[in-house]
Amino acid sequence: MADSSHLPDPERLARLRIVLVGAQHPGNIGAAARAMKVMGLSDLVLVAPERYPDPEANARASGAEDILAAARVVDTLEEALADTVMAIATSARTRRTEWPLVDAREAATRAVAESANGPAAIVFGRERAGLNNTELERCRLHLQIPANPDYSSLNLAAAVQVIAYELRVAAGATTAAAPAHEPVTGADMEGLFGQLQGVLEASGFLDPEEPMLLMARLRRLFYRAAPDRIETNILRGALRSLDPRGATNRKPADKPPRTQR
Ligand code: SAH
Repeated sequence: MADSSHLPDPERLARLRIVLVGAQHPGNIGAAARAMKVMGLSDLVLVAPERYPDPEANARASGAEDILAAARVVDTLEEALADTVMAIATSARTRRTEWPLVDAREAATRAVAESANGPAAIVFGRERAGLNNTELERCRLHLQIPANPDYSSLNLAAAVQVIAYELRVAAGATTAAAPAHEPVTGADMEGLFGQLQGVLEASGFLDPEEPMLLMARLRRLFYRAAPDRIETNILRGALRSLDPRGATNRKPADKPPRTQR
């Protein structure tokens, strides 16, 4: 379950279009629809597919038939791009063109930025031959997914998956969860450092006449570790138990419950 993930803006995702030009295998069309749905994309346009509709497309969509059902089928790439504010062509090979070439991440960032103004399309080519030069020249940028130079051609639906993922991330998706525990304040950290210093002085480890950089270094260490409240409580309880000044400093009641350790 992705319930803790930060969700991208659905309106942005709705303006990101996947265009498949001359797809030859209906299975790839279905798999592309699935790849899109997983990433929250919904706008699929099929330019002159060879075999479509086809039961194999539905079979491979497995749960993403709604994307297929809503897909528009058109005769030309021009029609597919007529209302777009930006189109990016994908290519498995670096061709000798003057066009700016970007990777998947850069392309997704550009497409998402442009989608503020209207639909932005990523255009995919035929399984056998990719996109022809006329089709490539209808797009503002060319996109190549970085791959093994000796084997750089992804399956069409796999290429759609990579791009759909990058589009989702560029549109703001993260799985960064909220902090698991309550954060500590500056005052909490000062309380910890004060206690640590007191115990280290009492044990003789820290000489108050010659403190050197010890406390500064320990501060740096604890700030780097960024302990949360439970961890800070454990440290303070542990320090209390080690305090050579004895039982007066120990307050077993402050021990965190077992489950928190
Ligand atoms: N033989 C074709 C390969 C086409 S693969 C060629 O050399 O062009 C089918 C489609 O998948 C491509 O047109 C492109 O849209 C996409 N694709 C495959 N590998 C890709 C890659 N490394 N980068 C970008 N798109 C890729």
